[in-house]
Amino acid sequence: MEFPAVLPHGPSRRQFLGKLALGGAAVLAGRLAPSAGAAEAPDLLASRQGRKLGIALVGLGRYAGGQLAPALQETRLCRLAGVVTGERAKGERWAREYGFSEKSVYGYDTIGRLADNPDVDIVYVVTPPALHARDVIAAAKAGKHVISEKPMATTVADCDVMIAACRAAGVMLSIGYRLHFEPHHAEIERLARTGEFGPFERMDGGFGFHMARSEWRVDKRLAGGGPLPDLGTYVIQEACRARREAAPVAVTAREAPKLRPDFFKEVEAEINWTMEFAGGATCAGFASYEQGANRFRAEAPHGWVELDPAFSYRGIEGRTSRGPMRYPSVNEQAGQMDGFAECILTGRPTPVPGEMGRRDIAIITAIYEAAASGQRVPVKL
Ligand code: NAD
Repeated sequence: MEFPAVLPHGPSRRQFLGKLALGGAAVLAGRLAPSAGAAEAPDLLASRQGRKLGIALVGLGRYAGGQLAPALQETRLCRLAGVVTGERAKGERWAREYGFSEKSVYGYDTIGRLADNPDVDIVYVVTPPALHARDVIAAAKAGKHVISEKPMATTVADCDVMIAACRAAGVMLSIGYRLHFEPHHAEIERLARTGEFGPFERMDGGFGFHMARSEWRVDKRLAGGGPLPDLGTYVIQEACRARREAAPVAVTAREAPKLRPDFFKEVEAEINWTMEFAGGATCAGFASYEQGANRFRAEAPHGWVELDPAFSYRGIEGRTSRGPMRYPSVNEQAGQMDGFAECILTGRPTPVPGEMGRRDIAIITAIYEAAASGQRVPVKL
């Protein structure tokens, strides 16, 4: 499947660069000109303009504080320029710590005011999944490019509204799929694209941990489900990638019996599913809030690839039938945010657009339907 870029048509590249030079971030954010065949490297582009693209983080929880804000200290093309939080004092602490203006601290109900803030080019939504649509739509209306964390939303309908809002505003929408910016995973994509081993036909993957404390992740209204959307998304992503971004045609699934029914009142504690791809390839998936798992394996007629750990923030390791994969451990979040900034600066489409996030929610929806019915369910994209 091809993912169209959400790119408006606009002024020429020369005009675009001129507007950047004038510090016209609002113009940049809202009315980006694609620069087909841009010759200039994004680093050069950014440094010539004397500024990095400003990112505002929405929701200052564990992922924003523990991963994204530190990663933004290592990015080449973007920087932390603002926050949206329910706690103003916390936002002001962040402003002092990370060196942005306290005027760039917003509440969830004042995201719209970002429209008047030229320091912010990109809004990165890091709230619980059911709130992504609200925050993405508000950011798009403010004329900012948007990254939504995974899972993109809790329903396909919300994904559609998010995509439509960004398209209407002429801004780009990307999903926080950090593993598209990690070299072991890039090698799986390359092997799939070149067909060196032949097509990957038999795949399996699992991601899980033991969840000890209650939070939004076990609240169906906020999370949309249990470990399937939170962790299973990674297995779904990887299998589709190994199939050159094709979506499965049908799924089967079975929810595991609950060991702690009082803890997991609303969502599954553990789930197994199978994805069937056109031509007969399959992927067996597993996601759990009861036990650890972090692996992916794909077999083709002339070789295989295996990652373990497969989905961690750092330290991914892998082997193929040719031997160990020797790639450095990278800062995935920094690569992901720089990757999006590069798309904005050059007008290239993002490899992880809203349409891909929507595809994954459609697959998750089919998996839940299969688990509930016990039937094989076609995936409706
Ligand atoms: P968290 O609970 O630590 O943070 C959530 C933030 O949202 C908090 O700042 C909280 O105050 C805010 N929030 C606003 N309204 C809320 C509400 N009604 N209920 C609860 N919180 C509310 O969660 P997190 O682990 O940081 O996850 C946030 C998002 O990031 C989720 O979409 C999650 O799936 C995603 N995430 C992605 C990765 C990744 O590797 N890409 C890793 C972890 C989390």
